Amino acid sequence: MTDIFRKHTPRFAHRALVDSGSRPFYRALSDRGGEALIDGRRVIMAASNDYLGLSTDQRVIAAATTALKRFGSSCSGSPSVNGTLLLHQELERRLAAFLGREAVVVTTTGFQANLAIAALLGMNDAVFTDMSNHASLVDGVRLGFAVHHKYRHSDMAHLESRLSRADPALGKLILTDGMFSVEGDLCRLPEIVALARRHGARVAVDGAHDIGLLGTKGRGVGEYFGLDDGADLITGTFSKCFGSVGGLLAGPQDVIDYLRYNARSVLFSASMPAPAVAAALAALDIVESEPERRDRVFDLTERLHTGLRAQGYRTGSSMTPVIPVHIGDEELGMRVWQGLFDAGVFTNVMTAPVVPRGRALIRVMVQATHTEAHVDAVLDAFASVGRRLGLIPPTAPGDFP
Ligand code: PMP
Repeated sequence: MTDIFRKHTPRFAHRALVDSGSRPFYRALSDRGGEALIDGRRVIMAASNDYLGLSTDQRVIAAATTALKRFGSSCSGSPSVNGTLLLHQELERRLAAFLGREAVVVTTTGFQANLAIAALLGMNDAVFTDMSNHASLVDGVRLGFAVHHKYRHSDMAHLESRLSRADPALGKLILTDGMFSVEGDLCRLPEIVALARRHGARVAVDGAHDIGLLGTKGRGVGEYFGLDDGADLITGTFSKCFGSVGGLLAGPQDVIDYLRYNARSVLFSASMPAPAVAAALAALDIVESEPERRDRVFDLTERLHTGLRAQGYRTGSSMTPVIPVHIGDEELGMRVWQGLFDAGVFTNVMTAPVVPRGRALIRVMVQATHTEAHVDAVLDAFASVGRRLGLIPPTAPGDFP
């Protein structure tokens, strides 16, 4: 007999690494805007998606507090029957205007926004997905019925061959992250849109990381590429640039109306609590009115990126505040993580199955609330850990020994 609860350790890739003493996952921490308290110790928070630093912004906190007092802690119901407030509708209107789309529906999490895509994926459809897409997009596809074609990460020739081999009669959707969450690189939107037009496909972009961050106005990867109308459907989250929690789908009115009544992750889950909605609204005000936060985060990113490369680290093709530092061996990755943590820097170590086995990396992230001193301290930590573990040369290229 098989005990369904027996899930063996080989399937849990992190087990041995965690048992070795490092505890990089599920650490209780309290974020204080650029720094965090972990086990009573103050560390530099280099592992947060709070790129603009809005989760600790006093205006966002005040808006959430007021909404909490006025509307309570929960909507206690799903949006369709008993969980919609005027506040949700205001957020949807504001986001539609911000993103330049006819309509928006908000969801309780960004994950659920991506699951909602399943409602568009019928038996007579085909979906084309980048192999590095976020888990929530992967699951959205799993919940649908469309024929699924995967293409190698950002490999446009591969996408094109998949598109041209698909049955022309099927409805087609290309589904991609806008900014990839582990490597920090951007999808090749101009080429994706051109291919979509040639093959009669629609494009859906998950803007979880790029909405609020990229483009002069912060409208995301489309604005960054000068292709505001490139994506037919946009999904997003409030858990990164918007200092809150919740998600969104933005697109043509009829598509959003269809999703409101057919997407199960929209229909059957209690709606975003009022404080979260109010926080997202206050954050949207700041995203729109304080572009200097984006400049700040990119200045700091450049400082960190340049410093890491000068030390001899491989940091992939990211130009964004998500910087992957490639290590390779998983146990070594864990030791680098531990060394950085001991030096007072909290990062993320990414191991299989998040990245392919043997391609462990440390993900470092920058926030507008970091200071130059924070960035320099992160660089010092990488230098000493990397030299001690033989990852980088004893002295940086250009340094005098
Ligand atoms: N998409 C991407 C690319 C993400 O990185 C994440 C969260 N890590 C999500 C969607 C899900 O968003 P949420 O945290 O709001 O569920």
